[in-house]
Amino acid sequence: MKQIFFLLLALGLFSCSRQNEKITVLQNRIDSLQNKLQWYQSSEHLSQALLWFQHSPEMHALYVQGYNTAKQALACNLKNKQYKEKKNAVVVDIDETILNNGLYDGWLYFSGKAYSDSSWNAWGQDAIAEPLPGTVDFLNFAKDLGCEVFYVSNRKQNPLFEPTLQNLKKFNLPFADEKHLLLKTDTDKTPAGKTTKEKRRLRIENELNYEILLLCGDQMADFDDAFDIISGGTEEQIKDSINTYKEKFGSRFIILPNPVYCDWLDQIVKGGDRNNSVAHLDSLRKAKVERWKN
Ligand SMILES: [Mg+2]
Repeated sequence: MKQIFFLLLALGLFSCSRQNEKITVLQNRIDSLQNKLQWYQSSEHLSQALLWFQHSPEMHALYVQGYNTAKQALACNLKNKQYKEKKNAVVVDIDETILNNGLYDGWLYFSGKAYSDSSWNAWGQDAIAEPLPGTVDFLNFAKDLGCEVFYVSNRKQNPLFEPTLQNLKKFNLPFADEKHLLLKTDTDKTPAGKTTKEKRRLRIENELNYEILLLCGDQMADFDDAFDIISGGTEEQIKDSINTYKEKFGSRFIILPNPVYCDWLDQIVKGGDRNNSVAHLDSLRKAKVERWKN
């Protein structure tokens, strides 16, 4: 009798232990699903921006429109060239100006990760980013007009110089060579450690002896330090600078759309600290949304 009792007790304990294991497994699954749900909810803004960038006809048309305007402006600026002794240059940014990194942003979205230099460099080293609408046509138009194209990008010289060159060459983009590809190096930093493109623009004009006739970019810093957030300007001050130079937009500066990321967004997720969790970055974004207070 005693033996049967202990046997039943052992069976009961074994059964309880199995039950507990099952409960733990189920709890872990629920936690994992909740985390995933929270992440999808917090990154919804990215899906909307990405879908627009990857699929909307409006995005396609805006790039075509931007580069049509660029062609007209360049032809006009060439006729009114200021420094006859200088060679002709067009300066273009690369990312979301010439090449489309929508696949990298899609990877960020699905992997639940914020941007990091290591994943960005890995993507860049694949050298598979495709040209954006209108770019190949415009760059060849500039070449045919007698203008050299300089690719001025804040991709890091090391390790992205060779793969970026390879990416540009893959699509036969004109002037894809060592002279015309100017990536970010330590010498481009301000005393405060921030990166600016101004030194490279001045080098093209003064050291290499070109007149820059047109600039294309998806961020204000692609055009002039007056619009660069690193100079410490607030949103309102930069908008004031845009108003001051308003006649240059569409004539000297061609701005292209980027709803996915930009300096303006880094300002909102204060300090641009991309090591924060996706949920925390989302709370910073939400705090900045203005709304109707009825
Ligand atoms: Mg860019």
